[in-house]
Order: sequence, then C-alpha cells, then structure tokens
Amino acid sequence: MSADTYLNLVNGGFTGKLAKQLGLPQPTPLRRFQEGQALLDGPVLVIGDDELARLLSADWDLDVHRVAAPDLRYSAVVLGLTSLTHPSELAAPVLELAGVLKRLARGGRVFTVSRAATSDDAPAVAAARQGVDGFLRSIAKELRGGATANGLVLGSDVPVTAPSVVGALRFFLSTRSAFVDGQLLEVDSLAGSLPASWDRPLAGRVAVVTGAARGIGESIADTLARDGATVVVVDVPAAGEHLVVVANRVRGTALQLDVTAPDAGARILEHALARHGRLDIVVHNAGITRDKLLANMTPEKWDSVLAVNIASQLAINEALLTSGDFTDAPRIVSLASTSGIAGNRGQANYAASKGGVIGMVRATAPLLEVFGGTANAVAPGFIETEMTARIPAVTRQVARRLNSLQQGGLPVDVAETVAFLASPAAGGIVGRVLRVCGQNLVGR
Ligand code: NAD
Repeated sequence: MSADTYLNLVNGGFTGKLAKQLGLPQPTPLRRFQEGQALLDGPVLVIGDDELARLLSADWDLDVHRVAAPDLRYSAVVLGLTSLTHPSELAAPVLELAGVLKRLARGGRVFTVSRAATSDDAPAVAAARQGVDGFLRSIAKELRGGATANGLVLGSDVPVTAPSVVGALRFFLSTRSAFVDGQLLEVDSLAGSLPASWDRPLAGRVAVVTGAARGIGESIADTLARDGATVVVVDVPAAGEHLVVVANRVRGTALQLDVTAPDAGARILEHALARHGRLDIVVHNAGITRDKLLANMTPEKWDSVLAVNIASQLAINEALLTSGDFTDAPRIVSLASTSGIAGNRGQANYAASKGGVIGMVRATAPLLEVFGGTANAVAPGFIETEMTARIPAVTRQVARRLNSLQQGGLPVDVAETVAFLASPAAGGIVGRVLRVCGQNLVGR
C-alpha cells in the first residue's frame, strides 16, 4: 500500500469507480523491478532501425515485431530515428506508432533513439532531430496506465551498438525506470563496457553513498548492493544507529561523518581503502532543505544548505581526484533536483545548491574522462520520503499530481537511476542530468 492515500483510493473498487465518474485524475500504481523479473512481458515493436531490432531479438531474446500485428498488445515500441534528414521523414514512423498506441500494455514503454541536433547540422537535419524532442515530450504527456515515453539522443559518432546505448535501452525498457518519463538522455561517446552479468553489473566495485541512513540514500545503498557492489554508507553521527542497520543489511560498512567536515574526502577514501581495498563509485546524496522566501532568508539557512548540498561535494571530489586512488573507470553520481532546473518558490537556497550540482557534474566529467570515468546527476521530482512528508498536506497532495504519472515517485526510482549511471555500461554518458520526476508539468 502506497503512502499516497489518494492513489490507493482511486484504485479501490467503489472509490475507484466514483473517482472515474467525477473525472478525477486516476494514477496507475507503477510496477517496480523485482529480481527475476523478465525485461518485458510481451512483444516489442521496433520501427526503423534494423540494428536495434537485432539487438533486442538476438541478444535479449525478446519477441520483436517489425510490423504491427493487429489486435496484439505491445509491451514496448522502439523507434530508431538516427538517420532523419528532414522533418517530413517523421510522419511514417510516428504514424506507425500512433496505430498501436491504444494497444500499448499497462506500464508499456515508448522509446526513441535519435541524434543530437547541433549548429553544425544542415537546418533540415537539425529540424528533424529537434522535432523528435518535442514529439517525445508530448506523447509522454498523452500516455496513460503507467506507460512512459523516453529517448536517447546520440552524439554524431555514437553508433546504436555503443555500450551506453545498449545499457540505457535496457534500463529504460525495464521497470527500473518506472518513474522516469518524458526524458531524452544524451549518449556522448563509445566509452563504457557491457557487464558480464546484467543482474550484477556492479560486481567487484566499491561504492560510497552519503546520507544513507534513510530515504533515498538508504534505497541507493540497497540497490547498489543488489547490483553487486560493496557499499560504504555515510551519515551524520546523530543517524548512526540506523546507519549501522543499513550497513549490516547491505553487508557493507558504516562511516559516521558530516560531509561538510574539511577532511571528509580524505576520511571517505581512507575508510574505503582500509576496509575494502578500493573506491570506484561515489554517490553524493546527503542533502538538506531550509525553505524560506528569499525576503525572509537568513544567512544560516542559506549557508547550511549550500554547505551540505554543494560545497561538500566539490571538496570531496577534489580530494578524490587528486588522490591517485580514484582512477579505475570511476563514477560520481550526484543528487540534484528539479527545483535546481525549474526553480521553486521558497527554495532559492536549495535551488542554487542543486543548480550548482548540475554545473559541477558538467565541469567534473572531463576531469574523469582520462580514467574512463564519468560524473552525472540525477534530478528527482517529488519523491515520497521524510523530506517531502514535512510539506504541508494540501501542498503535498497537489505536488504529487503535477506530473504525467500523477503520483510521487519512490526512493527506489531514484536509486535505480543512480545504479544505472554508476554501471559500466553508462560510461558514455558524461556530465548529464537525468530527471526522475514522472515528467513534472512545471518547468522544463
Ligand atoms: P532525507 O532528509 O530523508 O535524507 C537525507 C539524509 O542525508 C539523512 O539521513 C541525513 O541525516 C543525511 N545528511 C544530511 N546532512 C548531512 C551531512 N552534513 N553529512 C552526512 N549526512 C547528512 O532526504 P531524501 O528525501 O532522502 O533526499 C536525498 C537527496 O535527494 C537529497 O540530496 C535531496 O536534496 C534530494 N532530493 C530529494 C527529493 C525528494 O522529493 N525527497 C527531491 C529532489 C531531490
């Protein structure tokens, strides 16, 4: 049963019928990943690219159709749109998709693979490529039944067989991406590698997760451990008791540490090397809010939010990058927020810190590329945690509905996205931001 009472009510028998009669929003409970779950339950229609069809049928053994069969329910529709040269070429694949949309399964996936529009392109090519962006974001708003639409945007030299294209396709088709909707993720390079096992892509890797005693951080620790990583969980001493519970559950170790301590980076590295012999993944998740309209902002509220949410990450990264011990395809994944992209009333301090995270990963990624490393950010929208439970009840109810999936996400939705960006297959995604917000209706 979800913490979202409204979602529970509109999916109940009598109350569900009543909600329908009244024309109220009817969010569908999302299906999340469970071990042993099949990648897709039903057939997938691949429109366009032969290479994508081969990957899905030969490598992953999915039931791939190249022409829509009448009356069949599709689990996913994948559109290969990498060779568009003029907007007029969009009509055929898009209208083919239109013909099967009403037969998309509950929780189905629409997925586009296209190329990034750049100023070097001929105007018609750029128009076609950018057109995919507008089209994809629109149909994501039309889908119902927990279905989502997302896409990959490939850099000019990136083939559809690149590890990050393959890894991302798998992530987006699966239930791991349940609350990611209306997003276009760039794949910048051919870097990265396919894991020996898709079930344990982080085997042999050591990860540190800050703010891991509860909420999203706790779920990230669970998810990275499930994917095979050895996990060090970090949180303030006041949260020490539950931190140990998490550490024991994930069979990792706990480090009580305030991330704003001047030696935080050194202590994290020292702990990871002493206890586990290496450090490969850092997830900067610790974060706080001290909301106030700017007119009422105090220096304490401004400074503490900036110190925890961004200055600590900059200092820890600097310590790791200069240590010489963070060099084996390292991964940094930072928690941003949709507030840092679209802005949010009463959160000038928080949004400055989260916008800062986005700038930081963009500028940090090139420093890691020589080691085959990446830095990326995940920007959650409304996620059901203790942080959002503190929002006044009415505002909270409204905030939950303001996205295409008409509900809040769960910590695990953010955790799955972090795990994907931390995985070997995501090596070609550098300095990017992936939103986990159910396609928030406000902002971009
Ligand atoms: P939460 O408040 O439930 O948990 C945050 C954890 O960070 C706590 O365990 C806390 O003790 C720890 N922490 C705080 N300051 C610390 C410090 N100085 N050193 C070490 N640990 C510290 O928050 P959450 O909702 O799980 O959020 C996790 C991250 O996701 C944050 O960065 C937050 O800004 C971001 N985020 C959350 C949402 C949401 O809807 N919940 C939305 C967007 C972004």
